[in-house]
Amino acid sequence: MTPNSPGDSHAIARRGLMLVLSSPSGAGKTTISRALLKTDEHLTMSISVTTRAPRPGEEHGRDYFFVAEPEYHKMVKGGELLEHARVFDNFYGTPRSYVEQQLAAGRDVLFDIDWQGTQQLKASAGSDLVSVFILPPSIADLEKRLRGRAQDSEEVVQRRMARASDEMSHWPEYDYVVVNRDVEQSIAQVQSILTAERLRQRRRAAGLVAFVNTMRGQS
Ligand code: 5GP
Repeated sequence: MTPNSPGDSHAIARRGLMLVLSSPSGAGKTTISRALLKTDEHLTMSISVTTRAPRPGEEHGRDYFFVAEPEYHKMVKGGELLEHARVFDNFYGTPRSYVEQQLAAGRDVLFDIDWQGTQQLKASAGSDLVSVFILPPSIADLEKRLRGRAQDSEEVVQRRMARASDEMSHWPEYDYVVVNRDVEQSIAQVQSILTAERLRQRRRAAGLVAFVNTMRGQS
């Protein structure tokens, strides 16, 4: 439950929610996530474990927990991951304990995971999960952004482009779809989704009962 705090959607205790953002690589999801985290003190990022090598500028514990394969498989076996999937040639997974602690403390958790992980979380979290799929405005734009990164080899770029159309086919499995034509507008759209989902009656039922009872002079 969220402690009392300023702002309409936080003043009444409610269950924390899980906000998933998925998209093909290069559709702008990382930029959107960072902007949300910067402006929203009630939102925290789930940091995944991965077996892939860090890209230049990436930090262990900030972008990912970079682990060797044996360690990853040990985590899977030990039930330490809330969901896990193979993406391209690497393994990815969401550490369970951090997410559970944050939700228990009434904080909302943001996930940057693929469609496979989203399906697994949906199966376990049900209506606590809110999923958003980010689409690029065009395939040419996606390719430009992937090349602009200049962090991956040509072969990797080509494979990611080939995978992009596969990944994009999963948009109907998501609650919301944002076409990222303008990043500021996309950020505002995801913020609106979060605001509306936080105000859902079913997430606030316990807090609202107490609130309304107090107003009606009942305890
Ligand atoms: P990248 O290697 O470019 O950081 O991520 C590749 C893909 O893996 C992205 O679509 C990203 O959303 C996904 N991904 C990152 N972390 C996880 C995770 O913990 N679980 C799942 N299922 N996918 C992840």
